Amino acid sequence: MKKGKLFVISGPSGTGKGTICERIINENDDVALSVSMTTREPREGEIDGVNYYFVSDDEFRKVIDEDGFLEYACVYRHSYGTPKQAVLSKLEQGIDVILEIDTQGAMNIKKKYPEGVFIFIKPPSLQELRHRIESRGKDDQETIELRLSEAEKEMGLIDEYDHCVVNDDLDEAVEKVRNIMKEEKNAVSCN
Ligand code: ADP
Ligand code: 5GP
Repeated sequence: MKKGKLFVISGPSGTGKGTICERIINENDDVALSVSMTTREPREGEIDGVNYYFVSDDEFRKVIDEDGFLEYACVYRHSYGTPKQAVLSKLEQGIDVILEIDTQGAMNIKKKYPEGVFIFIKPPSLQELRHRIESRGKDDQETIELRLSEAEKEMGLIDEYDHCVVNDDLDEAVEKVRNIMKEEKNAVSCN
């Protein structure tokens, strides 16, 4: 059976990764979104096992020790990791998987799975990025400043990605990501 494809969608906080992934997942039964594990506190409305698996530092450490992560990283002062088994078993079953992860995680996955498809979601400007994070209304001011100060560094990694999509108009950005996924699925592999 043909294996599923791994799509890594990455970029700074507030650029719209989650919004784009949600749209793609809702319209497509053949693609699964990996649910990450994190030590950060749930935000209002977030559900354990749906948005993330919310765990303690000790629980997170235990999964590291058991080699249970495909990748993990400290992002904006909290730990985040991609559970390995869930992703690999879906790929084995021929199901495509999206990882919505930060740039460190994306670069780690690129070393292990260069056959993955790496898509960077870029904000139209840093000013608009600030506006989006602030109007999302989920983070305190210190967290917002930390996320914005990381954004410029994260943008320096764009050239490492296979594709870059500017998320200015949301519908257009979703359409571009959708087309990239379609083209990559249809690409002939000669290995
Ligand atoms: P990320 O997952 O990258 O942190 P989100 O998907 O949470 O970002 O988006 C951050 C905020 O920006 C949300 O309030 C979302 O509704 C808004 N947003 C996303 N895409 C756009 C867009 N193209 N134009 C305007 N606002 C957007
Ligand atoms: P948030 O706290 O806003 O949900 O996510 C913060 C950042 O962590 C985002 O850039 C998000 O993509 C990233 N992230 C979420 N899950 C993972 C993961 O499993 N691994 C890594 N490396 N980053 C993740």
